[in-house]
Amino acid sequence: MKKRVVVLGATGSIGESTMRVARALSDKIEIVGISGRNNTSRLLDLAREFPSARICAGDVAGATELSHEIGRPILHGEQGLMELASLQDAELVLVAIVGTAGLKPALHALESDKDLAVASKEILVMAGELVMETAARMSGRVLPVDSEHNAIFQCLEGQDPSRVKRLILTCSGGPFRKASSADLASVTPEQALKHPTWSMGRKISIDSATLFNKGLEMIEARWLFNIPMEKIDVVIHPQSIVHSMVEFVDGSILAQMSSTDMALPIQFALTYPERYAGPCAPLDLASVGRLDFEAPRTDLFPALDLARRAGTAGGTLPAVLNAANEAAVEAFLAGKLSFPGIWESVARAMDTVPFVEHPTLDQLIEADEAAREIVAG
Ligand code: NAD
Ligand code: MG
Repeated sequence: MKKRVVVLGATGSIGESTMRVARALSDKIEIVGISGRNNTSRLLDLAREFPSARICAGDVAGATELSHEIGRPILHGEQGLMELASLQDAELVLVAIVGTAGLKPALHALESDKDLAVASKEILVMAGELVMETAARMSGRVLPVDSEHNAIFQCLEGQDPSRVKRLILTCSGGPFRKASSADLASVTPEQALKHPTWSMGRKISIDSATLFNKGLEMIEARWLFNIPMEKIDVVIHPQSIVHSMVEFVDGSILAQMSSTDMALPIQFALTYPERYAGPCAPLDLASVGRLDFEAPRTDLFPALDLARRAGTAGGTLPAVLNAANEAAVEAFLAGKLSFPGIWESVARAMDTVPFVEHPTLDQLIEADEAAREIVAG
């Protein structure tokens, strides 16, 4: 029996790796739903490749164009995403939409008793408690796709959670691992987009350069594994071979290793709990040669401390951090904000937006909007 999968954000970097997995495991995985926002030609290719999948375009114009090309009805917009998230014949919904636009469809997928594979870490940062509470109430599982969380998920299998001492997230350090404070002040978008080990979408590439990506991942881990922030650590590991680790109370540390390819965590989430031979290249440790580890430079990269503060306080603060970061990254890419301006804007929003300790979804959305306004100035 094939796993019937919906992919939201199928035209992006994670979407592309997901399709690689689906092609390699076509006897195990069936793609029944696909969405993409504005890459219509890519969406058209996918619609042709998966003729029985329901397709959702970003807007009416995209849907009309596609429908004309392939002669079948095409969904669009948020309503279309909601429809895909609850497709009757789907078992698992993978959310790979950048930012928080995937939050409502993700909640809807859980409410519809689907398994939820989460690549979009922003939705867990904004509303992790709500997502996990919804999953606990319903029958679907939340399966991590982010490589660090997928690694931890694998290391925790069969273990007693009360024996976990800490989670250790690995971090490549990004393109500015060795930069000075003066270097950081003049970083351009082109320099920041060049990630040393991973090839990814633009937003996450900038997040990897500021280390906000790791900050978001600390909060993501806090909710996915129901663990307090003080038990979540970060270590710099430039080779990106150890994808993360779990330390147990006896001092034993389990690590998960594989080549630097998102196909592996995506596949593990899609086929969980089974393992199959897939498209991920085998890891040859002898050719990797060495694995290095070092402490993060939190003085130069304030993102980690800001995220620890937000994750520890909870309430609306992670949503504010996340939204301010999204807006600041856009402003940086548009040439309107300096590189250090990204964390300065996030800190300002965190100090300014009123704090709500136990927010409703509406209050989270309000906090998110208020943070974006502060960054826009
Ligand atoms: P991307 O920019 O390459 O792709 C984003 C996808 O989302 C595209 O299909 C786009 O059409 C769609 N999209 C964007 N905005 C949308 C909106 N408002 N409504 C509907 N659809 C929209 O991004 P990516 O690198 O694939 O990352 C996707 C998510 O996965 C991010 O949250 C990122 O943090 C996370 N992630 C990515 C990687 C990676 O290797 N790329 C690794 C771990 C986690
Ligand atoms: Mg990651």
